[in-house]
This record gives sequence, C-alpha cells and structure tokens, in this order.
Amino acid sequence: MSERDAPGPDLSLAGQPPRFVFITGGVVSSLGKGIASASLGALLTARGYRVRQRKLDPYLNVDPGTMSPYEHGEVFVTDDGAETDLDLGHYERFTGINGKRSDNVTTGRIYSEVIARERRGEYLGKTIQVIPHVTDAIKDFIQADTGDAQFVLCEIGGTVGDIESLPFLEAIRQLGNELGSDRVCFVHLTLVPFVGAAGELKTKPTQHSVKELQSVGIRPDVLLARCERDIGDDEIRKISLFCNLRKERVIPALNVASIYAAPRQYHEQGFDGEVLKHFGLPTEPGPQMAGWDALVNRIMQPRHGTVRIAIVGKYTELLDAYKSLQEALIHAGAANDAKVLVDWVNSEELDRPSAERDRLQEAQGILVPGGFGIRGTEGMIHAVTYARERGVPYFGICFGMQMAVIEGARNCAGIEGAASTEFGPADDPVVGLMTEWTRGNQVERRDEGSDLGGTMRLGAYPCLLQAGSLVRSVYGSDVISERHRHRFEVNLSYRSALEAAGYRFSGLSPDGVLPEIVERPDHTWFVGVQFHPELKSKPFEPHPLFTSFVAASMKTSRIA
Ligand code: GLN
Repeated sequence: MSERDAPGPDLSLAGQPPRFVFITGGVVSSLGKGIASASLGALLTARGYRVRQRKLDPYLNVDPGTMSPYEHGEVFVTDDGAETDLDLGHYERFTGINGKRSDNVTTGRIYSEVIARERRGEYLGKTIQVIPHVTDAIKDFIQADTGDAQFVLCEIGGTVGDIESLPFLEAIRQLGNELGSDRVCFVHLTLVPFVGAAGELKTKPTQHSVKELQSVGIRPDVLLARCERDIGDDEIRKISLFCNLRKERVIPALNVASIYAAPRQYHEQGFDGEVLKHFGLPTEPGPQMAGWDALVNRIMQPRHGTVRIAIVGKYTELLDAYKSLQEALIHAGAANDAKVLVDWVNSEELDRPSAERDRLQEAQGILVPGGFGIRGTEGMIHAVTYARERGVPYFGICFGMQMAVIEGARNCAGIEGAASTEFGPADDPVVGLMTEWTRGNQVERRDEGSDLGGTMRLGAYPCLLQAGSLVRSVYGSDVISERHRHRFEVNLSYRSALEAAGYRFSGLSPDGVLPEIVERPDHTWFVGVQFHPELKSKPFEPHPLFTSFVAASMKTSRIA
C-alpha cells in the first residue's frame, strides 16, 4: 500500500503565530469546497507545514447531531466526541490529522454561547448585538486552540449571499483587517458553467459572486473556478479583469476521476503555490506527492480486478449519509489492490421474504451500516441471515451489529422475542439502553419529551480484544480505540445464550460491561462492531477491519 510522504519539518515559520486561509463558496452549493479545502490542507502538509482545518457552519442547529441524514448527510464524530460536519472527515483523510471539537462550529452554537454569557451577566449590562458580540465570539472560535499549527484553514459553509452566513463573513473580514494580509488569505470557489446553447463557458456568475463578496468587504486573494471542462486563456483573462485578480490567482478547478487526485490537480494549477506567494513564503521545494500519485494509481488501476460489496441500509438514495463508509471501502480496495464496487440495497426492498436471494446473489460481501429507527430493519435481518447461512462475509457496523445480534438471538439461540428497545418494549431486549437492563430488565421507553441532542455515547472509547479472536489478529493488538455514536447497546445478559449459539463476544469495554464486538468463529468472516471504524480510515492508514473484510470478500466466488 502507498504511504504518505514524510517531508522534513519546515522551520522557516518557527515561533510565528498561525496564518489563516478562509475558503468561501459562491454561485451554487456542492461545488466541492470541502475537497478544495482538504486539498490545500494535503498540499501544505506535503510541504512539511503543520495544518489545522476548520469548518464554520451557518445553520442554527447547535451541531448536526439532531439532523436527519437526508438533511445533512453523515454526522462525522471526532475522537473527543463532537458531532460535526462531514467535511471534517475529508480534512482528516487528506491531512492525516485528527479533528477536534474546536474545529467545527455553527451559528447555533455561537448564539447559544453568547446568550448563555449574557444570562450570566458577563457582558456587564451592555446591549448584545451581532456586531461586535456575535462576530467577536466567531473570531475567538477561529483563533482558539490552534496548537502549533502554522496554517489554519477555515471553510465557511453555505454560499455567499445567504443571509445566515453574514456574521461569519463579517467576522473574517474583521480578522483580515486586524491581522493583515500577511496573516490572512481569502480563497473563493465559484462555478464557471458551460452553456450548451451558446457553446461557451460563462464567467458572469463568477463575476457576480465576487461582487457579492466585495459588497461585504472581502476581496478574494485566490479564486478557484470550478468547471466541467478546460478553461481557456480568454476566460481566465476575463475573470482576472472583472474580478480584479492577477491571472495566476485564477485557478481552474477541474473534475477529477477520484477525489484523491484533487491535491495533485490543484497543485498543477498552482493553488498551493499562489497561497504561499500571497503570504510571501517560498514555493520551492514543492510538495512531496509520490505517495499521493501511487495511491491514485492504485485506486484507478487496481491489479486484482473488482469485488462486489452490498451495503444494505436505509438512506441509500442519499449516499452522503455514508460518506466515510464509501471512503473506507475505497481505502480498503486500494490496500488490496482491487476496486470495490458497491451495490446500494435499500433494506426495505428485502422486507419481503426471499427477496434477498435475488438482490444479494452477486454480493461477495455484505455490510449493514449504522442507522436509526425500525423502518427497514426486517430487511437488514434477512440480509444477516443470508450472509450467515451462506458463508458470505458479513460486516455489521453499529446498527449492523445490533441487527446481527437480534438475528442470531432469534434464529440461532431460539430467543423468539429478541428485539431492540429502540423500537418499543421488547420481550427479550437483546439490544437496549444500558439503564434498562441495569434496572433488572424493566423496559422503559425514553421520555418522549427528553432532549435528543447530545444524549448519545460519542467519541473514542477503548476496547479490549479477546486473545485468539479474528479481530485480535486483524488489529494485531489487544487494546484498540474506536469512535462511537449510538444510544443503544448489546445486552451483556444474553452473552451465554449467544455464545452457546456460536457467537463470540470478542471485544468488550475495559470494565467488561459493554459488548463492543461480536463475531462468529465458524464463519468465513462475520464481525459486528458497536463503533464506527469507517470514521478512522484514511487513505494512507486504511482501517484493518475494512482491509480484512474486503480481502475476505475477494475470496468469495460469485454465485451469479
Ligand atoms: N440506532 C442505534 C443506536 O442508537 C444505532 C446507531 C448507529 O448505528 N449509529 O444505538
């Protein structure tokens, strides 16, 4: 597998305060601002700089934890237990540096902190206003906890022109003014659409977007022009003229076949070089890219062909809900020199008896990912039965582990009423809230009026692996640390019944109370984990469970 290059530390900035790069977006959303920010992070890291990457989200939710995956996509969880935007996943994967709670903030959190301070009387009777109190809180957040970072890259969510992003834009404008251009660089990403009827690329939306940004007092130092096709010299000159930027500062952001090819592409177009020039820093030696090039090569031209994995989940129409999962499978594919083809199966399609035989017959491996709520769970349980009975590798993640335990309890241990109390009172709560079984199995429904935000088990927890188990050999270690995001747990009181039915509780919390991993030793590869390993997989550190699952799946011969 390819390794991240490790350039020597750059000492030219030793002892200096961090420089800030603010990345805004214009015209439309979904242009790849997160990948652009992550690519700059990757390039600066590949030049030997220490980087922190942050995201400021303009919505009013305190964090994305309470949002539906349909609204927001994946909720990315950091080691320190923050529920954050999925772009933090890209930053971790592109720089290899783990994000923290202090790397993502929303308008909701800023306002709730300002209001809490007001209630405590900390503003000494002042009238609390967006400027300066809210903008000060934003500036404090941006500048706090930067550690030894030489660059702090801050992406502003949303699109310039949205009412809700104004306080963020005002805050970064003020910072630009206070810290000066040798410490602040503004990058703006826009769209240059191709209009078929005219047969031309159009620069007008970019001109308008830059105008909009200038109307709030921000002049971009570098412009990223997202475009479906090559942008000619004429268009670059036009953008440069109308947007008041030197030509070299207009960087075409072209489509790439894999997101991991974006850092190389942005480097070729001069992105990192122009940011460094803005700060008056040398552009030579360039970034060390051999590891990235080798990685992209393995992703694009794997030597061992393809492997088909069926992901049986609930949010299959919105794949952003499984962003880290998709990436972890790409990393595991590259580690095995194979291309993972994902077949997204809506679990509701498998609710009908025997449907799984048609829908899953080409799958060489079956994965049930995280999820919430009862809808589609019978289909997931059918998928587990199918994988278990036919010896197809099975990987259950969080909800997928809970489904595997319910399936095993019902079909192997003869516990007919086995269910999760997430779906209502259960005769046999093999999955439930810990408080339920510690109170002698009295099943209590969660108070409907209670808070949903911040009530989950979140962040990194240690787990002890049992000697001789599959997971012990896959990790090559007795103790692991993985990230969690769930309310419900597998009920330890069913351990002996399940172990008698062929299961092994191969990973437990250090106090021995929480089952974190369940496997079936008689099966080719059957592992359920209560945590989310996909959150820690990185292109240069593919997750061992995913690598092992993909390797096992490659050995499954295709039935059809
Ligand atoms: N709904 C389950 C729980 O809350 C699983 C959560 C998940 O898969 N992330 O425990």
